[in-house]
Amino acid sequence: MTASHGVEKLVIIGSGPAGWTAAIYGARANLSPRAIIGVPAANPAPVLPGGQLMLTTEVENYPGFPHGVSGPEMMALFQQQAERFGTRITNADVTRCDFSQRPFVIETSEGETVRAHAVIIATGATANWLGLPNELRLAMNGGGVSACAVCDGALPAYRDQPLAVVGGGDTAMEEASYLTKFASKVYVIHRRDSFRASKAMQARILDNPKAEPVWNSVVVDVVGDAFIEGLILEDVYTKARRTLPVKGLFIAIGHSPATKFLEGCGIEFDDKGYVMLRTRSSRTNIDGVFAAGDVADAVYRQAITASGMGCQAAIDAERWLAEHGIH
Ligand SMILES: Cc1cc2nc3c(=O)[nH]c(=O)nc-3n(C[C@H](O)[C@H](O)[C@H](O)COP(=O)(O)OP(=O)(O)OC[C@H]3O[C@@H](n4cnc5c(N)ncnc54)[C@H](O)[C@@H]3O)c2cc1C
Repeated sequence: MTASHGVEKLVIIGSGPAGWTAAIYGARANLSPRAIIGVPAANPAPVLPGGQLMLTTEVENYPGFPHGVSGPEMMALFQQQAERFGTRITNADVTRCDFSQRPFVIETSEGETVRAHAVIIATGATANWLGLPNELRLAMNGGGVSACAVCDGALPAYRDQPLAVVGGGDTAMEEASYLTKFASKVYVIHRRDSFRASKAMQARILDNPKAEPVWNSVVVDVVGDAFIEGLILEDVYTKARRTLPVKGLFIAIGHSPATKFLEGCGIEFDDKGYVMLRTRSSRTNIDGVFAAGDVADAVYRQAITASGMGCQAAIDAERWLAEHGIH
């Protein structure tokens, strides 16, 4: 069977490291993939074509960039590479998928209905932000606010400085514990009087001389012009406010996988809402639908792992199409 007229062989949804890498591999395998790359959205958290790296100024841990690279620059290079081999781009969000019929049906925010033999879901997981007046301005301009300690904690600006982490779950404990390697001190700000993280994870903070919990407190804003100088904290009971001087703020209040458009289409999710994959594969529970990157990975959430998964998904999709005689 050859691909039928008007039906895409491979549609890739998303344009972060996973989506672009899948596009590069899919295009080089002669699948002429179509990438539906998303449109900018502000709510509930910022989402941009290019993905989560569009929110960061310095990527130092992606191999091949020994002097670092800005997130937007890196994603522009990924896109160029995908386009060079023939990826076709659609500037739209996917709003709905119907995987019960074949070819699959994909609807976009531009009112288009796209039909495809194989689909790769690479829509990522959006870091949750607090919604503070000065939070994103500083986050997007290298101003000392981040949502990823593993990504940014080792940057020189944070070395031997007092830092703060917001959150009370396992991720917050993990991020705070990681930051104690570099910081002079790590405040862990939580709105209750105890963490909800597992006992073992709590112990990593409560027994760490460099970490200090700040109980019953919320951050109401970040102080600093070009770079963070402190946080305004509010006591949840007395409403008293004070300024806590810190040189870095790491938000660790979870991620939201971008899967709303998959509601009702039969894709299986894990208990955290991430797309569930078959072991050692990018295959979902629906034959011909693959997933890659943070949308299917609650554990690593790094550009390099997302890229690796994008590569796997494109190879799996190519083999699946070949098995089904679609060239
Ligand atoms: C502040 C911050 C700093 C970071 N720094 C680093 C770092 O230094 N190094 C590192 O390795 N990692 C870093 N990360 C993590 C990294 O950004 C992610 O692991 C990576 O971007 C995941 O790639 P992805 O392709 O899976 O998803 P994303 O990059 O999130 O891309 C998802 C894509 O899907 C699109 N999309 C979403 N919904 C739809 C829809 N309905 N229709 C169409 N398109 C849609 C979006 O527009 C976006 O293009 C950082 C993350 C944050 C938040």
